[in-house]
Amino acid sequence: MSGPIPKNGVLDMPAYVGGREAVEGVENPFKLSANENPLGASPKAITALKNPGDPSIYPDGGAVALRQKLAAVNGLDAARIVCGNGSDDILTLLAQAYLGPGDEMLHTAHAFLIYKLASRATGATPIEVAEQDLTANVDALLAAVTDKTKIIFLANPNNPTGTMLGRDDIERLHAGVPDNVLLVLDGAYAEYVDPTLYPAAFDMVEAHDNVVTTRTFSKAYGLAALRLGWGYCPPAVGDALNRLRGPFNINAAAMQAGLAALDDQAHIEKSRAHNTQWRDWLVQQIGGLSGDAMSIGVRSTQANFILLEFADAAHAQKAEAAMCAAGVIPRALTAYGLPTRLRLSIGTEAGNRAAMAALENLVKGDGA
Ligand SMILES: *Cc1c(COP(=O)(O)O)cnc(C)c1O
Repeated sequence: MSGPIPKNGVLDMPAYVGGREAVEGVENPFKLSANENPLGASPKAITALKNPGDPSIYPDGGAVALRQKLAAVNGLDAARIVCGNGSDDILTLLAQAYLGPGDEMLHTAHAFLIYKLASRATGATPIEVAEQDLTANVDALLAAVTDKTKIIFLANPNNPTGTMLGRDDIERLHAGVPDNVLLVLDGAYAEYVDPTLYPAAFDMVEAHDNVVTTRTFSKAYGLAALRLGWGYCPPAVGDALNRLRGPFNINAAAMQAGLAALDDQAHIEKSRAHNTQWRDWLVQQIGGLSGDAMSIGVRSTQANFILLEFADAAHAQKAEAAMCAAGVIPRALTAYGLPTRLRLSIGTEAGNRAAMAALENLVKGDGA
């Protein structure tokens, strides 16, 4: 072999494979595979995108206005906020800053795939920790900590299981890990959780040197295409990320749209209400399905998706194909180690009703 060779480990990494986006022969399917906001972005953000400013001028590398607005809206200290090109950027920077060959990163059994990819890219070893009933298990996580552990990545609520740890569990996890282990709480679905129940953990970031929490504009804010996320960090962690990040990692259009979206908290509330209403409707309707051809279980979540549960992987595959043929795309979860389940994002009313119709046909044995 001649030519440049990537460093050790790179070619062992699988490339990230996202959810299915299209179905051959079906025009405009309901794409319920990527947890996008079915209501879209705030109209204020759309308007902001129509006035992007002068594209020949570099954006503000410090994202000062955006960090100040994030701080004001969430009651935080702007100096502790680091913005990223999606929250994936922040997660990847954290891995780059704190992991290297020989180090270990802990993640739960059915965790967001980016944690593993970002960690392996540094040469570190991802360690999978068993869950209990698809939920992060604090005791198992604590038992897995060794002197090589440098980061614990935990999505709360988790994708794709949708389960969430409460405040007491998060505090117990933090209390049990050494000070040199960074606890990263990924809050990608935070806005969908009842705010009175959500352990936002911003105060833990302020109280400890080893807790970071991340947020994104890709889910409830409906700005996935623009790639905008942020982390709330202890000062020393923020300093490390600011040294490592691209100097202009947030583009001007994303900043403009993000600022406008933050001014429209009513849109977030509307999105949360839509999600809760239709998530409950889908769970109730699927729970009531009966027929001889297939049985389908359902699991609600704290996020903007539900899990469909099948007797085996073959049934799950058959259901995925039938739903796609009916114009509704769910997310297969084989890559997440959940081959008997499908993840279904909460959609528009029309999308949710189309999903129900497809599932009804499946259990009755009608249609595809
Ligand atoms: C969708 C998602 C993200 C968001 O990624 P972005 O890069 O901000 O689009 C982060 N974490 C989890 C668990 C997710 O599901």
